[in-house]
Amino acid sequence: MAEFPAPIAKLIEEFGRLPGIGPKSAQRLAFHVVSMSDDDVKKLIEALLHSKRDLVFCESCCCVTDHSPCFVCGDAERDHTMICVVQDTRDMLALERMKSYRGLYHVLGGAISPMDGIGPDELRLTELLHRLADDAIKEMILATNSTVEGEATASYIARLAHHFENLAVTRIAHGLPIGGDLEYADEATLARALEFRRPI
Ligand SMILES: [Zn+2]
Repeated sequence: MAEFPAPIAKLIEEFGRLPGIGPKSAQRLAFHVVSMSDDDVKKLIEALLHSKRDLVFCESCCCVTDHSPCFVCGDAERDHTMICVVQDTRDMLALERMKSYRGLYHVLGGAISPMDGIGPDELRLTELLHRLADDAIKEMILATNSTVEGEATASYIARLAHHFENLAVTRIAHGLPIGGDLEYADEATLARALEFRRPI
């Protein structure tokens, strides 16, 4: 088979490094870029650069945001006695769309997954423990995904938090589909999962 011209091969290689993009999709995207107008390519490049330049991690909850503290942590009207622990900023935004949770969040940046080489040290657990050490926090809701990794992460954090005597640790209910990602759950399911959380 004839080889791809070098610039295309490079594009395919870069797209192929993105999550969920297999070799076929990488080729499709690369050839799509070639067919785009110069203007559209510039817009794409700018969007990529802006996303790196203008986004930071919130100094408190570690979510991805355009200003720190983020819109939740910086809101004095929120309930600052509750922390909902999620894997990812997308999960936090899914819960926010539900508009019924008024507490704070903590974004771990993933879940423990030995298969993918992600151990506890790769997650923002030190930052979480630091926040829990503040007596103002009365409840921590573990809202990691209901996958094997999400469950293992929830159990690990529950064990870590055991010595905080005045802290209630709860796990969201299994209204969520088993193996499901939080961010894809519909709002009613999410609301129910949060409402029927149980002690862990
Ligand atoms: Zn924040």
